[in-house]
Amino acid sequence: MSSLEQELVAAIRNIPDYPKPGVMFRDITTLLGNPRAFRRAVDELVHPYAGIGIAKVAGIEARGFILGGAMAHQLSTGFVPIRKKGKLPHETVRVAYSLEYGVDEMEMHKDAITPGEKVILVDDLIATGGTAEAAVKLLRQMGADIVAACFVIDLPDIGGRRKLEALGVEVRTLVA
Ligand code: AMP
Repeated sequence: MSSLEQELVAAIRNIPDYPKPGVMFRDITTLLGNPRAFRRAVDELVHPYAGIGIAKVAGIEARGFILGGAMAHQLSTGFVPIRKKGKLPHETVRVAYSLEYGVDEMEMHKDAITPGEKVILVDDLIATGGTAEAAVKLLRQMGADIVAACFVIDLPDIGGRRKLEALGVEVRTLVA
């Protein structure tokens, strides 16, 4: 493990049986609250994408907003929120995606992306990849050129990375 990975792993809090028995919740609020770890995580996430004409960072509600806002500032790009249904005030595009039990929907404003714009997608963690896959569908519907999907944490046994890569999306994660 690199020294950066060690630092990030140490900054992430693990909460057993949250939000339900059997789940190990990877809590990044401790990382966000640690000035050095937060700075290093954001720097590392954006590192390959500086100066290559990225127009927007799209963040998935809610933790993707925090990381994505910082990344957009660092890259001098715009920020696009991808939200749970019913939260965005203007015309939206919507996509359904499966959760462990049942389905949910996420939305993005129709005018958030100009076709052809280079976009980076971000969330805190990728597990099954279902959430990120839905976000990829929304962005592509609006003509985004998705340069990469970035996550602080990968849960490699669950296979989300492979799901996104099968869609032709480059995946960048910092710790597994
Ligand atoms: P998935 O769609 O299965 O890839 O799940 C990813 C989404 O669920 C992300 O928005 C994560 O924040 C959240 N999530 C899933 N599993 C965990 C976990 N073990 N710890 C923290 N967040 C999780």
